[in-house]
Amino acid sequence: TDMKRRPLVLANWKMNMTPSQVLPYLDQVIPEVEKDTGADVAIAAQDLYLAQMVKATTNTRLAIAAENAHWTDEGAYTGETSPKALAEIGVSYVLIGHFERRKLFNETDERVNLKTKAALKNGLKVIVDLDEDMSTYDTVNPNNVVLAQLRAALAGISAEELDQVAIAYEPTWAIGSGEAASATAAQKAAVLIRQSLKNLYSAGVAEKIRILYGGSVTTKNAAAFLSQNDIDGVLVGKAALDPKQFLELIDIAQ
Ligand code: PGA
Repeated sequence: TDMKRRPLVLANWKMNMTPSQVLPYLDQVIPEVEKDTGADVAIAAQDLYLAQMVKATTNTRLAIAAENAHWTDEGAYTGETSPKALAEIGVSYVLIGHFERRKLFNETDERVNLKTKAALKNGLKVIVDLDEDMSTYDTVNPNNVVLAQLRAALAGISAEELDQVAIAYEPTWAIGSGEAASATAAQKAAVLIRQSLKNLYSAGVAEKIRILYGGSVTTKNAAAFLSQNDIDGVLVGKAALDPKQFLELIDIAQ
């Protein structure tokens, strides 16, 4: 049971970075990412930048992620982005169900599920974001919002498809607040998520899947999260807007 999962460091730029900042940022981080081979590294950015970012990172270890994608491949959905199109331009990952999507754009559990399925069908890897507080629960409790989000997001997804999925646990109050969860509380949440995955799938599946912590991760607190047995990566917003800090975080994850 002591199988080591490969860490994933995912930057979430959100609706930040101007067009002129994108390539200089990538130029600064790519050479270092090429040297640090002990972790998977990805950046999620606005759709507008993705094609350019994919091109700039061709044949490098730096993967590009979308921050959202639609639940169908094409159609009359003005203003939306197709997962099929994202896959075709070479995007590797898509973040589904981020707190800001759920809260500000009314993303329901059902849509998170449909979007996850559509992304997987198109060969995208998915980071499913769970974002409520779990600190009040000590056991796998059916009333736990995070675990309900987990079950809903993965409904109808096979164990085989789950190979392409990572889970991110981000307590709502920790996102963008400067106040991260404690590493022990995050570890406890990750254990409950893994326990749920074992109940939903199998011990083998639960053991393999990566669980990330997100919410005010910094270069100061990242090591504590990453040293926890059940935390296999970090999802980083604000700190990753600075390429130097992003590189430091990747270094810590090695
Ligand atoms: P933060 O954002 O690191 O700025 O808290 C994390 C996230 O929203 O994924």
